[in-house]
This record gives sequence, C-alpha cells and structure tokens, in this order.
Amino acid sequence: MRLELDLLSLSAILYPLSSIGGTHPLLPSLDRLTPMSVRVRYAPSPTGSPHVGNIRTALFCYLYSRHTGGENMIRLEDTDRTRYVPGSEEDIMESLHWVGIEWEEGPDKGGPYAPYRQSERKETGIYQPYIDQLLASGQGYKAFDTPEELAEMRKIQEQNKKALGYFGGDWREAMPEQVAETEKAGKPFVIRLKMPRGRTLSCVDAVRGRIEWDSDTCDDQVMIKADGMPTYHFAAMVDDHLMGITHVIRGEEWISSTPKHVFLLESLGWEPPIFVHTTIIKGKDGSKLSKRHGDTRCLDFRAAGYLPEALVNFIALIGWAPGGDRELMSKAQLIEAFTLDGLQPSPGVFDIDKLRWMNGNYIRALDPLDLGARLEAYVSSEETFEYWLKPEFATEGTHAYLGLLREGFARGKSYALATLPLVQERVHTLADFGEATAFFFNDEPPMDPKAVEKWFGEPYVGPLFDRFILELGIAPKTLAELETIVRDYAAEAGFEKLGPIVHPLRVALTGKTTGPGLFELMEVLGKDRMVARLTRAKGLLKL
Ligand code: GLU
Repeated sequence: MRLELDLLSLSAILYPLSSIGGTHPLLPSLDRLTPMSVRVRYAPSPTGSPHVGNIRTALFCYLYSRHTGGENMIRLEDTDRTRYVPGSEEDIMESLHWVGIEWEEGPDKGGPYAPYRQSERKETGIYQPYIDQLLASGQGYKAFDTPEELAEMRKIQEQNKKALGYFGGDWREAMPEQVAETEKAGKPFVIRLKMPRGRTLSCVDAVRGRIEWDSDTCDDQVMIKADGMPTYHFAAMVDDHLMGITHVIRGEEWISSTPKHVFLLESLGWEPPIFVHTTIIKGKDGSKLSKRHGDTRCLDFRAAGYLPEALVNFIALIGWAPGGDRELMSKAQLIEAFTLDGLQPSPGVFDIDKLRWMNGNYIRALDPLDLGARLEAYVSSEETFEYWLKPEFATEGTHAYLGLLREGFARGKSYALATLPLVQERVHTLADFGEATAFFFNDEPPMDPKAVEKWFGEPYVGPLFDRFILELGIAPKTLAELETIVRDYAAEAGFEKLGPIVHPLRVALTGKTTGPGLFELMEVLGKDRMVARLTRAKGLLKL
C-alpha cells in the first residue's frame, strides 16, 4: 500500500498540482492511481439523526468501496460528549440499514481494528502513545488557558479584526519549568498542535485537485481536551492511519481543518490519505439545504413514503454524475459507474420534485407482491402516522387516508392487495396510495357535488343503476361481462359513446369522476360492494 501511495505522491510532483483530480488530460484518473485495496470509512458523530448530506457521504463511501472491490467501515466519532444526542446512534444505524448501505467493519460487527467507537478506543488506551509522541517531539504542547482567558483572547481578536483562534497565547513557547509547575499546581490543560510557521501545507483532494494553505493562517487546534478525551481532529487522524484508510470521504466543511490534519499526520510520521471533500448541498433556490426546503432527515423520507432505492438513486446524483444523461440507476448500476472522477466541484442541488419523479418510477416498477408487502409495512408503522400527524400536513388528510388503508388491510388483506395495482400508475409515494385507494375502503365514499349535479339528474341514470343491480343480483361478473353490460346499455339507450354511461357509474361507485379504469375497479369492488353503492346512489338521484 505504501508503494501505491508513493505513486500517488509521485504523480503529484510530476503533474501540475492544481489539476490533480482526473480531469487533467495528462493525468491518469485518480481512480486508477489509487492503492490496490481501497479502505474507506463513514465516520459519523452521534450528534443527531442523519440527514441527506450525511447519507450522501456514507453512500459515496459504500459505492466507492464496492466499485473498487475495497472495504467500507463505520466508525463512531463520539468523543465530544457535550454534543452527544441520545438516540442518534440508533438513528444512524437504522438509516444506513434502511437505504441498504453495507460495511464490513463497525461497532455492530467488530473487525480487525475494533473497537470502532472512539470513546471505547480512548478507554483501551489506543491514543495514548501518540499523545506522548506529540508531546515528546514538541509538536504538541500543553496550554493552561482558562475559558475566561480564551474568551478574552477572542474578544481582542474580534476588536482588532484579527483571525480568530489560538495562535500561541502564553503557552506555545512557555518554558518547560513553567509548564511543569503549572501542571503540578493542578491547573487543567489541553494539548494543542503546534502548527509550523512560514510553511505551505497541502493535500490532494480528489474533487478539487491539490489544495494549499499558508500555515501561518492555521491556529493551534486542541488535540486532547482537559478531561483527557481526544478531539475529533486527533482521534480521526490517528484512527484513519491505524485503520489503513486510503480515502477520507467527508463533507467540505472539513476542508479548513485539513491543513491541521495533514500536519498532525506529518508530526506522527504518517502518509496522508487521499481526501475526498464532497461539496455542500443546496436547495433549488441556491441556499444551503435546510428544513426550509422540506424534509432533510433520512428517516423522514421513509415516513413520507419514499422507497430506499429511489432515495439512494437520488442522493447519489447530488454532486456526482455518472456521465451521459443517465438518471434512473439501480444500486448495482451505481456501483458499476461510481468513480471519483464523477464528483462535481460545484454544489449539489436537492430537488424534491426529482425525488418524487424517481420514486414514482420505482413504485411503478414494483411487482404486485412486493408492492403489497411494502404498503402493508408502511401502514403498519407508527412512524408513518406520527409523521403525517405533524401540523404542517394537517390540511392534507393523508393521515386519515392512510388510516383507512391500514384498516382496509386489517379487514381483508386480499381485497386491500387487489386495490393497489389499480392506482400504482398514478402515485409518487407510498403515502399517495392512501388517498388514491380511499374509495375502495370507504363504504360510503363522499360524493363530489359537481359530479352529482352533472350526472344524477339524467333520466336514464336510475334505470342504468337498476340494470346493474339486477345483473349483479343474478351472478358476479367478470371484467369482460361488466364491459358488455355497459356497452349493451349504451347501445340500447342510443348513446354512441360510453361516457354518459361510464361517468354516472363511476360517480356512484367511487364518488369521483376520475380514478382507475371503471371495469378494473368494478372487478375489484365485487358484487356486494357495487350493489350497496349503486343502491345508495339511487337515493341521491335528483328525480
Ligand atoms: N465525525 C465527523 C462528522 O460527523 C466526520 C468527519 C470525517 O469524516 O472526518 O462530521
């Protein structure tokens, strides 16, 4: 592996560095320069439920590991206890499982580098030798500043419009005796990284090419906190090295920390990995993706009725392009196509309409059995109903419609299953099935007053309903027989087109003028329901 990484460094020297990333005509694709065995990690902090951006990072790790035949792992970065949100670890795992991301090593699976939770790694003493090494080499130092002193420093920096951060303070150059004395006096301290002065630090970023920083602009980051806990910066880099990570795929918010990471790695005598900083995600209006744009939390998409394969397809294409104009791609196709070359340097755009369109496509592709199983699970889940109970959906009625579908399943599974394929063509989400199938489950579907006004005053409609009631009374009918009755009746009544016959029947049976094909829905409703509904409709006729 070392040899391969050297090859990469060599290429960085041989080629104009700002163009590394695979798009330069002289430079071989980064994907082809990569080490034989790619090892990537998704390293979430349990600070909340994962949103679209997190899942995209996890997905890119997964797709890249699978594309290259490498390995993927989950590492929980939980050293910041103040930001710990109970339940988020469960949400992370649940989200990853739901969207179908897989990994070989992780807190749930163990693996050769266990434990995979940083708080546990700290407990087992994994970080200590490297803390010692940093102090011994002088590239780390103890800083005893109190929170008040740090606040004061910041205030002065702000007043003087200076760069914010710790650029030395009282402790960077403190005499060893002073440090020893202060420590002996029991004053709490952190260990900071002593950033070099007057140097250019750089990294290879697969999306942006080579990035450089003036080390004078980088402050001395805390590596170890006063309670002995490593910060993310320290633990992540140590772990990435120890775990043989070849590509650090993470959000672009970490770019500004990267020179510190590169210098920390150098201080410990280690090769840097290839950094893959994904761009931020924006809404269609160009602003940073937020709650304003609708759902962003992964599990909310499940509750809203999206299929995981649609979400995965959609998220993969935010900031990554497979080339050509392919849009609908299965997981296998995504894996096949996923190279780092396809990562876009411009911000990815989150377009909910595109997700709905994709989801509709995926729903239409489901076979009836699969569709039935998914809908049954969807309406059996409390999560679904909690979601649709939110005040912002109060006027949509989705909660009630889905309740009707749930009840429908409870009353008779085969009837419920038979209704679904009839509306499968017209929905975008699993939630849409609620309203689309509601008339099947509502024995007295609400009547559209306009439709009643238009059709229920026609003199031929009463006899039409009677004829159907009569025919159905004789025996249940097949789809073809139902059609024949309608055609015969139209001919007898002197109608050239079927419309005047079909519409009032549809209104009587469904309460509406639009919906699935009349004969198909009649066949599913069955004799008894039809007779009951036609009888009820007769009572509404305007004679
Ligand atoms: N623990 C960091 C986060 O949740 C991950 C950063 C990284 O991947 O290095 O944002």
